[in-house]
Amino acid sequence: MTNDDAQGILRETRHKPSGEWIMGKGQKQCDKCLTLTGPRAFCCPSCKTPFIFKVKSKETKTTKILRNIDWKTLVCGDRIKVNGGPYYIGKDGDYIPMGYRGKFRVEKVEFNGIHAYGIDKHTGYAFIWMGKDMKDKETNVNRTAHKIIKFKLKETGGV
Ligand SMILES: [Zn+2]
Repeated sequence: MTNDDAQGILRETRHKPSGEWIMGKGQKQCDKCLTLTGPRAFCCPSCKTPFIFKVKSKETKTTKILRNIDWKTLVCGDRIKVNGGPYYIGKDGDYIPMGYRGKFRVEKVEFNGIHAYGIDKHTGYAFIWMGKDMKDKETNVNRTAHKIIKFKLKETGGV
């Protein structure tokens, strides 16, 4: 094999699509009708079959999820996922969630909550209520602590 051949192979390899790439980057395929669609679709645009989320992204491989953490130990830069929290009961008794949802980056922790910035669903600043349950008389919102899970990078390699 000549040098030119070797370089040709290198070029080939670089352009050779990986398994993932064959489907188009980030595309999903419907198991039923094989229609290709965008990565954010919740169901097949053609036959309406809902997609099952088998999340095995790079993130889930490198990130550990810590439940039952003491939120007071969170520090600036920690990534958390937030759920639950304050809610409002409408006149007809409907439950209206008022809490924050999604991923956040912690700025600092206060005695009754977490100052954080939203990464996905919510963007911008948020004060995530973690204090005790109480009812806000003015707004009729029932304040109750959010549920927090923490993302921690897995230790890779090393001893
Ligand atoms: Zn389909």
